[in-house]
Amino acid sequence: MNVEGEVIREVARVLLRSRYAVAFTGAGISTESGIPDFRGPLGIWTKNPEAERRAYEVYGRFLRDPKAYWEEAVSRPSTLGDLERVQPNPSHYALAELEKMGILKCVITQNIDNLHQKAGSRNVIEFHGNAFKLRCINCGKRYGRSEFDIKGIVGRGDVPRCRDCGHPLKSDVVYFGEPIPHDAYKKSLEEVRKCDAMIVAGTSAVVYPAAYLPRFAKQKPNPAVVIEVNAEPTPLTIEVSDYFIQGMTGNILPKIVEEIKCLAGGTP
Ligand code: NAD
Repeated sequence: MNVEGEVIREVARVLLRSRYAVAFTGAGISTESGIPDFRGPLGIWTKNPEAERRAYEVYGRFLRDPKAYWEEAVSRPSTLGDLERVQPNPSHYALAELEKMGILKCVITQNIDNLHQKAGSRNVIEFHGNAFKLRCINCGKRYGRSEFDIKGIVGRGDVPRCRDCGHPLKSDVVYFGEPIPHDAYKKSLEEVRKCDAMIVAGTSAVVYPAAYLPRFAKQKPNPAVVIEVNAEPTPLTIEVSDYFIQGMTGNILPKIVEEIKCLAGGTP
């Protein structure tokens, strides 16, 4: 067995012994589905730093002028492409399988693409929202995007509005400078408090407060074992992670699941 195989076996043992494992995922887990990440070598912002600068302006625009925000939103194609057509990849299926096996209790994702749910994961917390939903920042109510004829509403010079309180709606996606929705933040902290193992997969771990979650998992009174899978080292690799497996999540995560099955089945 090579070094990677030995680490995968050790990690499989940790997960099999764990009582409450959770996963924390980022854009890297969806690149093998064809959605670009932001900061990887082929990331949207790595290739186009101007797009990163613009991303910092969106939330302010919504607060100042919701009509301008929606006019911009309907006139531009989504940065991440057509998310409706994208399918999960082996990384998402591996985490869904770990949940079905009773090992993984929850996925906390920074992704907005719905792919964990499409792959069958049931307990998913969307820390940065969901591109298929709209949210009222006044009362917190969420709606399916398809419940609104957004182009028609914007064409009539209006904006989609909350049906409960009338406040202008925005995309559920959390923008830079925007607070994390209270429900997602609270649930994530509860899960991290409970966990004794955390799989951190496909994140550069530089976006805060999300990147505090693995740090909190490691620093809490009952520290979790942190297992990081990423194409390249991150700020967590040395400071936080107990195990770092360098590689593609679509390759490594299914191998971990297979190893757990072997160990659970008693195969040497
Ligand atoms: P990031 O772009 O900052 O970092 C992605 C990391 O994953 C990089 O370190 C990269 O090297 C690594 N990576 C890329 N492909 C990989 C693969 N196949 N296997 C293993 N590692 C791989 O992403 P982030 O840390 O999630 O932060 C960016 C923010 O942008 C997040 O809030 C996220 O919600 C959002 N975002 C979401 C999507 C999505 O929903 N799919 C896509 C882009 C950005």
